[in-house]
Amino acid sequence: MGRIMRFAGISLIFLSGILGVRTAEAGPSRGLRVADGPAMEETTMIQKIRKTDQEWKGILTAEQYRVLRQAGTERPFAGKYNDHYESGVYVCGACGTPLFASVTKYDHGSGWPSFTAPIAEGRLEYREDRSHGMVRTEVRCAACGSHLGHVFDDGPAPARKHFCINSIALGFASANREEGMKKETTETALFAAGCFWGVEDKFGRIKGVISTRVGYTGGHTKDPTYQKVCSDTTGHAEAVEVIFDPKKVSYGELLDAFFRFHDPTQINRQGPDTGTQYRSAVFTLNEAQKEAALEAIAKLDASARYDCPVVTQVLPASEFTQAEDYHQKYYEKLSQRK
Ligand SMILES: [Zn+2]
Repeated sequence: MGRIMRFAGISLIFLSGILGVRTAEAGPSRGLRVADGPAMEETTMIQKIRKTDQEWKGILTAEQYRVLRQAGTERPFAGKYNDHYESGVYVCGACGTPLFASVTKYDHGSGWPSFTAPIAEGRLEYREDRSHGMVRTEVRCAACGSHLGHVFDDGPAPARKHFCINSIALGFASANREEGMKKETTETALFAAGCFWGVEDKFGRIKGVISTRVGYTGGHTKDPTYQKVCSDTTGHAEAVEVIFDPKKVSYGELLDAFFRFHDPTQINRQGPDTGTQYRSAVFTLNEAQKEAALEAIAKLDASARYDCPVVTQVLPASEFTQAEDYHQKYYEKLSQRK
């Protein structure tokens, strides 16, 4: 029951994280910085984008301007992302900042795209909206201040958040590599480093990481579930898929972070979690990733960093099965629970 025992510690980390975010919002001089390395910051990295009304009018259509800059609302069931369930990332329609991962999108039935959580809390800003005789919480893009929609408390458990966003306030970057023009803009990495909750959380905080999801890979059975994988009989590892922008963070930097995030000398265990599902592994998607991983391991072994040799497996990526919804962004959900 190692996971339960770890809760107290994790909640504390999160509390301090949230305080850090609030501080960062109050004044830019006091940024949130996590001790784990220079790339591990989020909120303070949002670059504010300021344009005059005239400039916005020059780059937005009239309907985009009405919704994004004048807090308008599009007609329900009319927007192009209401019934859209491709894998990828939804970005701000005005400035392109990545805001919501497709894994958090769900059908609320309201007629507008609905999400359970943003990619990171610092990507959004909230304001009380008392228009139309109601008290609602308006959601804006933290980078450019554009209106996106509202957030309500009638979403799915556990967090119950329902981000109700106008399609026209969004753009979409597909994770599908076949989709031509987005092809070179993102890359995918796949890591196993013990319990995927914490590993996903840490990768999600790295600048340049666009989205993450947890799942199972490297096994020999079809349709793995958490229960089956926990029985340690399917051969699957708990793994994190990381979609990143190689112009902002390199695969090598992600590998460095991966080795920092866990102890790669432990065989089939991390801390209190034991079993092959908690093994240390890099699942490579191409020859360059394989070479980079092998080189990183050789360097670590040649260094004095560990007493024991690195046991991390380097394997070609096989089928990745997304884990059950409640495992996705697990620590983020924990931190939102009051
Ligand atoms: Zn924006």
